[in-house]
Amino acid sequence: MNKTVFSPPAMVTIPVTGSDERFAVRRIFCAGKNYADHIREMGGIDTSRPPVIFAKPADALVSDGRDVPYPRASQDVHHEVELVLALGKPLRDASEEEAGKAVWGIATGVDLTRRDLQAQAKKHGGPWTSAKAFDHSAPIGPITPLDKPFADQGGRICLSVNGEVRQDGDLGQMLWPPRRLLVYLSTLFDMKTGDLVFTGTPAGVGPVQIGDRIQARIDGTEPLPFTITATG
Ligand code: MN
Repeated sequence: MNKTVFSPPAMVTIPVTGSDERFAVRRIFCAGKNYADHIREMGGIDTSRPPVIFAKPADALVSDGRDVPYPRASQDVHHEVELVLALGKPLRDASEEEAGKAVWGIATGVDLTRRDLQAQAKKHGGPWTSAKAFDHSAPIGPITPLDKPFADQGGRICLSVNGEVRQDGDLGQMLWPPRRLLVYLSTLFDMKTGDLVFTGTPAGVGPVQIGDRIQARIDGTEPLPFTITATG
């Protein structure tokens, strides 16, 4: 193999509950507008359309209990707690059964969003990249491995800021439950082993400030605590 012109960056990996092994991350796909009460709080009314699909770079992940610096170039950064699916198999034009078998594990994640830049993008019909895919925009807890195929089911999904509950929903409220979402993604992309999928957020999103202590929890996963620190 030819030598590369500079050393390639290390693969991004995140911890696995109950193991010394780590999960190597390939890509991060995200679903927006997947809970009706969140669509309504953002001023939307149409809950019949497929979720909005966007992506974050793998190196936007923040794991291992690290702090999250408040991002540059925004004055309105919001928290969005989301169930994250970690794929252990590829998926292409998959069935729901195949999708359930491809979920290697699940985790709690937060889709940090520059809401001010997202509002500008929506106004001008531009992409969401600067609003969603910035550095440190994807805090994530350890991945809990599954011992059987993933089945869509309810469960509490919540987030508190400095001990005050801001988001408190149920996984069963998803308009496109995880397996159906994976089926949809597998019609758009060749989904690969190592891909993560953020599945959308329930109502209650709101701003974070420097110094805030965030605690995100989803039934069946490890809790995700992190602190917002000064802009790095
Ligand atoms: Mn989101």
